[in-house]
Amino acid sequence: MRAYLDNNATSQPLPEVREAVAEALSTEWANPSSVHHEGQLARRRVELARMSIANLIGAKPRDMLLCSSGTESIDLAIRGVLGANPSKNAIVTSAVEHAAVRDLCAALAREQDIEIRTAPLGAHGVVDAEALASVLDDNVALVSVQWANNETGAIQPVCAISDACRARGVAFHCDAVQWVGKMPLDLRDDRTPAFDLLTLSAHKFHGPKGVGALWARPTVALRPVVHGSQELGRRGGTENVPGIAGAGAAADAAREWLADASGRERVRARRDRLESGILERLPGTTVNGPTGPGARLWNTTNIALPGLEAEAVLMVLSDLGVAASAGAACSSGSLDPSPVLLAMGVPERVAHGSVRLSLSRFTTDEEIEHTIDAFEQAAARLGFAP
Ligand code: PLP
Repeated sequence: MRAYLDNNATSQPLPEVREAVAEALSTEWANPSSVHHEGQLARRRVELARMSIANLIGAKPRDMLLCSSGTESIDLAIRGVLGANPSKNAIVTSAVEHAAVRDLCAALAREQDIEIRTAPLGAHGVVDAEALASVLDDNVALVSVQWANNETGAIQPVCAISDACRARGVAFHCDAVQWVGKMPLDLRDDRTPAFDLLTLSAHKFHGPKGVGALWARPTVALRPVVHGSQELGRRGGTENVPGIAGAGAAADAAREWLADASGRERVRARRDRLESGILERLPGTTVNGPTGPGARLWNTTNIALPGLEAEAVLMVLSDLGVAASAGAACSSGSLDPSPVLLAMGVPERVAHGSVRLSLSRFTTDEEIEHTIDAFEQAAARLGFAP
């Protein structure tokens, strides 16, 4: 059998998503900007899907910008706010962000002399919101901090961060790619953190790849990065109608699934069983990231086999029927340890041997037991001796 435990990388499209994509490809293929009947059918499909995506997060459809990915949404948030605020030239972020934020910030520092300030981290890679507040000043155009970490599932204190941003009048962008579709969010609720911009990506919640969205509070000034008339002039380019239709179907399904917390609890119990199963069978393995109640997403665990190379572990696991991943980049044939784990203070030897397992709402008990067995076999095959 095969166990797919790489859902933070991407998740399998739902049957209704595949249907919506196929239907849009066959019947709504005209250009949604065209005034004729066919164009208006495509426009209707885009707007219905926009409404579904907006409903998933309690937003108004007109405040949702549809784009090609989480990465593009992040790019538009950060460059868009910087472009609209030319008198400010600093950004505050954290050292545990996804490469979409990390690499963009590095490029902005290199090419445009933007000052990147990194918010200090507390234990397990959780941002210290008080320390973050102390690096805010009038020169900061934007704070960009993720909601949940893609490698460890660690949840950031976005409420305290948004309070700090509000107090200084600084815009707050949240990369919520790993949150949206996995956890409830209602932007109309007073208890929700006061975000100014928020990024989501459809393929993380069983939608198609190639569809992201940026929610932007209407008062936030954004300069477009890709010019054109679409998306009210905020993001040019003919819309990916089939992908957007699929994203809408995925959003509707996610909203329904999220309405009942027992679904999340069931998968959390499977994740906990997976983790304790591996830790018990393989003394010397450890979990990276926070493990306390409410400290991380229900679907993620990051397990270290100190002394092994994650790449080798992943290859053996794949051989044994388990799809997992490492939050690491491949350079010159070997995996560099994840910069996120290193920033969290995980020692290099431990980071090198760390593997991420991410479940979905469809993960079964059989997949979990199969993965625990596969870990034991992989460790034996690779001579795991912590
Ligand atoms: N941000 C986070 C936290 C992610 O996990 C990812 C994807 O893994 C992205 C951003 C990028 O999203 P996309 O793959 O849609 O470009």
